[in-house]
Amino acid sequence: MPRPAARQHAPAASTSAPSSSVPSLVNVLHELRRVHAWARRIGVGALAGGSSAPVMDASELEEAKAKLQTACVQFGGLDRQNVAMKLLASSPTCEGILQLVVVALRLPLPVAGQAPEAGLRLDVGVNACNILTSLLLGTELPAEREGLARRLLRAQALHASAQQLASAAAALQGSAGAPSESLRTASVQLLTSSMCLVSALSSLAAAPCPGLRPDLITALDESHLLEHAARLLQIEGPACDIASSFAGAYQAFDAASRSSGVAPPAALRVVCGPCARHAAMALGLAALRQLEGGTAGGGGTAGGSGTVCGGGAAGGSRAGSGSGAGSGSGAAGGSGAGGRQRGGERQRGGERQRGGERQRGGERRRGGGRRQAAGPPGPSAPRPITILRLLVRVGLAVAASAGLPGGASALPQASRFAIATTVLGNVVCKLPWWRAGRGAWPQVTSDVWRMAAALLRSEVLGDVEDVAMRNLLGKAVEAMLGGSTRGECGGLDAPGWVLPTETPPAVAAALAGGALPFLERLLRRGGRAPLQLEAAIAERLADVTAIAMWQQALPLLAYGEPAQAAALVTSVTKLLRSTQAQALLGGALRPETGGVGVAVALKFLVSTSQSWSSDGPSPPALRRLALVLSLALPDWLTELSRVVRQAAAMELAAGSGVRRRRGRGTGGAAPEAGADLKEGPLLAAIRVLLSTCRVVQDARQVAAATSAAAAAATTAPHDGPESSASAASSEADGGNGDGDDGDGSGDGGFIWPPPGLAEAEVVGAALGLLQRRGPDPTAGSAGGLSLVRLITCRSAVCLATAQPEGVRALGAAGLALAWRPGAVRAAAGALRGESGHQEVAASMEALAARLEAWAGEDEGTDEGEGEGKAEGKGADEGEGEAEGVGEGKGGVEDGGAMQGAGGGPAAWSSGEGGNALLCSAAPLLVSPDEARRRLGLPPACANPACANLEGDGEAGLRLQRCARCGSAAYCCRECQRAHWRAGHKAECGGGSGGEGAGG
Ligand SMILES: [Zn+2]
Ligand SMILES: [Zn+2]
Repeated sequence: MPRPAARQHAPAASTSAPSSSVPSLVNVLHELRRVHAWARRIGVGALAGGSSAPVMDASELEEAKAKLQTACVQFGGLDRQNVAMKLLASSPTCEGILQLVVVALRLPLPVAGQAPEAGLRLDVGVNACNILTSLLLGTELPAEREGLARRLLRAQALHASAQQLASAAAALQGSAGAPSESLRTASVQLLTSSMCLVSALSSLAAAPCPGLRPDLITALDESHLLEHAARLLQIEGPACDIASSFAGAYQAFDAASRSSGVAPPAALRVVCGPCARHAAMALGLAALRQLEGGTAGGGGTAGGSGTVCGGGAAGGSRAGSGSGAGSGSGAAGGSGAGGRQRGGERQRGGERQRGGERQRGGERRRGGGRRQAAGPPGPSAPRPITILRLLVRVGLAVAASAGLPGGASALPQASRFAIATTVLGNVVCKLPWWRAGRGAWPQVTSDVWRMAAALLRSEVLGDVEDVAMRNLLGKAVEAMLGGSTRGECGGLDAPGWVLPTETPPAVAAALAGGALPFLERLLRRGGRAPLQLEAAIAERLADVTAIAMWQQALPLLAYGEPAQAAALVTSVTKLLRSTQAQALLGGALRPETGGVGVAVALKFLVSTSQSWSSDGPSPPALRRLALVLSLALPDWLTELSRVVRQAAAMELAAGSGVRRRRGRGTGGAAPEAGADLKEGPLLAAIRVLLSTCRVVQDARQVAAATSAAAAAATTAPHDGPESSASAASSEADGGNGDGDDGDGSGDGGFIWPPPGLAEAEVVGAALGLLQRRGPDPTAGSAGGLSLVRLITCRSAVCLATAQPEGVRALGAAGLALAWRPGAVRAAAGALRGESGHQEVAASMEALAARLEAWAGEDEGTDEGEGEGKAEGKGADEGEGEAEGVGEGKGGVEDGGAMQGAGGGPAAWSSGEGGNALLCSAAPLLVSPDEARRRLGLPPACANPACANLEGDGEAGLRLQRCARCGSAAYCCRECQRAHWRAGHKAECGGGSGGEGAGG
């Protein structure tokens, strides 16, 4: 259940890597023992005694500042935050730091030509503020941290900070000429520290201390701190580090106020009122001004954006009055908490503001002018859609700026990154995905996809190394993917898929925004360059704990442009081809060995096991999806099988690997992913692989049997369907192969199973792994491990019935993936322990006996004879064995029921959800080449092992024909060379067009 909200935590105080010579925290804290005295003396000097009589002189202030700075640096990092909090909790030093912060937030701003002490006092205060932020951001001692936060709020610290920022804004705007540098520095520092403080308080209120929430909301609502901060931001211009601290605070508060469900009205006033407009202004306009090459004044830009900020002007009027610091809650009380939102009209003591015009004592504010352009939103809060449109514009502008080759308005990469992450984070928070299909929203949703596609390129953002940022970007895409289909097509949190004839609007919007090419590009680039941004995002999307994401992409395949859908699944195929077995070994899929392809394939396959409903018997969307699956299934399952068998062989050879792995990767799993984590990627892959194989197999047999029966009722039966219905699947190959047909034919030339599938070996691997792992004490019968076992056993019974000679050969060969009687018995025993699977357990016991008997016979005979028997006597003996298994303990009934019409596929899919989509799609499958042709994707590279991920899309690959035969075409020289060695040399006669790769 993915939530769109990217819960970004507050940026830590401006402390980075701790220095190499680390004095112990105890010493650092000891140096702060006089902090109480500092607070008192600074307070006396600056507040009570007037600015002329500093009680702390410059050298003392320098010393205090240095000690606090050291402490700031030393508190970097979570561990140290926690240790510091433990050492400080309930000590006088802690109280002293708090006092210092409270005092610092009331200090007057430095004035030009003033003694340096004023600036130093602020520096001391800012450092204290950062220390306090660090303490609040720890993870331990929540009660102590809450106490600290409460005392801070009770001291009206946020009110004081709001006043300080307001007077900073007033001073900056009021100063004739360029404001003094010390004033600018001070205002930036104050803004940054206060926003970090708000972030820290918000994250504290979000998780461990919800009791803090009401007080925090009240404080922000009353003080209008965010509003004043945003206003200062607009004056300061596009300084990204300030913008991000503001955005961090805004988001953290937003998340905290919604963390209990519905945000209270006061919180909405903070978030959706003028402050929201300010956020948009701060995040958007500054960037837009710069990006669109606007003038410094930016009047036109602001007007053109359609978002006009009246709230800022209102907040500013407090500051403009010059009363500044001291009047505590004046800003709040005076303007009235709700007053600004009401009807765009505000009255206060004869001061009147309406529309674009505002007068106050004859004073007309310069800066206000650019916010007063009359616009549709007027002074009321902008609609969320307006903010989003603005953000999208910003994002697109940022992306465009990267394309300018050294152009004058090109932003530096760091700025692009800062703006882009903020924009994306906010877009995901703001876009009401549940409405993505209604009203004016589809357009915006498309634009958001378009913007994300434009932004999320390494050309724009560079290589993102910061893990938190990678996660943020990945989450944004996750939310978009998840949001596009939720409520429209069903999905994970719904009982099943819905496949209406018309494309659901939210899906259409995502598709119009280029969702499919975007995803394909992410995957291709991620596969090509595993260290780049796209790989990081793809990796995040492939996270096993985020299982929902690619499943939500299934409707995109069903309703998308067919060629784009085909290209996407083909790119996944190529990722799978280069996947190494190691990807599956470990607690999580490993991206550096190609785990992304596995993850995406598995998630798509799992999503086809959900039930579905529609308004027609075989709706167009299902037919299109079947074409896409025709292209995907043979290759995906073949490659998955290869990776699984390799990984299983390594795992089985490695011995005690399983136990070692179990400890890993179990923390922090989403509830729905718990089962997968318990299984581990290898068993999860086996489960999905086997169940997909069986569903396709059974559904196609049922369909063939049904059509054969229908045909028999009218005319003489054809040869193809008959054989595939009655006999082993290996025979079905011959029967179905080369079915050269048009659209109408039943099986469309689809060959099942694909030649490299080796299902029996996968079953053998699973049996071995399950035996080793033993019963899972933590999981009930619904646990992931039980599901793997059940599916493995059912597959085993079916295979032993359908192709006993193959199973026997596998058992005799002494392979790592052989079916060992002991493993079969162990699985049977485990099934016996669970209710509801007694029949399968009995069949497995019979199978174990059978395997033992075979082993005995094979020992007695020559090995060559054993092989000959398996090959030669094929069908005849096969039937006999199948009956033998059945007679044992009712296995045939079980196996028969699964293959029989009606009961079979439902029996399979019931484990994973009703009338599976795949079950209905299976009879519609056609050959991959045919699917490719019908989907409109150009013919593939003739090298069957082609894993060329060059370019951003499969459709972009240009093929070159083999110069000799002219029939085979390749995407690159490597492919041609590889295929030549792999057999084209023999086929390439130089002109015999008939034999070429059918194109
Ligand atoms: Zn190729
Ligand atoms: Zn050739």
